[in-house]
Amino acid sequence: MDKSLIENNAETQDWIAEAMKAALGEAEAAMEHGDVPIGAVVVQNGNIITSQHNRREVDGDPTAHAEILALKQAAVLLNTWRLTGCSLVVTLEPCIMCAGALALSRIDSLIFGAYDQKMGACGTLYNIACDPRINHRFNVTGGVMEKSCSALLKDFFENLRLAPKPDLMPISE
Ligand SMILES: [Zn+2]
Repeated sequence: MDKSLIENNAETQDWIAEAMKAALGEAEAAMEHGDVPIGAVVVQNGNIITSQHNRREVDGDPTAHAEILALKQAAVLLNTWRLTGCSLVVTLEPCIMCAGALALSRIDSLIFGAYDQKMGACGTLYNIACDPRINHRFNVTGGVMEKSCSALLKDFFENLRLAPKPDLMPISE
């Protein structure tokens, strides 16, 4: 086997692992304000240029998903909406909205951690990334550091279930 190919692959693995670790760090930060732990980073030439986490609850914004925020920040930073040459690395498979935004941004590739059985639009329920009817397609790699990504989500929802419910105030005169 070609040795340079092996080395290139090892290099590729390095930046993906580093980016996913950063995305996991962002996901943890989301929990600090009661948001579902999902984090995303945009990578250009192997360097993380933006990192964001889910802010739906804290911002009261149904569109404040980690991916949307990371894409918007990257567009501002690069001074263009066209994110050709960039990759998005996110802890959970993107939903329909985020997969649509990835196509609109002309991104090169998507790397995600956990698969999303309820909303996943990059292979699970839909495959927006390689639908021939859509005018931009991007590469997808799923299941990267999947265990860490899904454990974070599982713990979050378990803690929610175990959290004490506020007592109902008795009606009194
Ligand atoms: Zn989304």
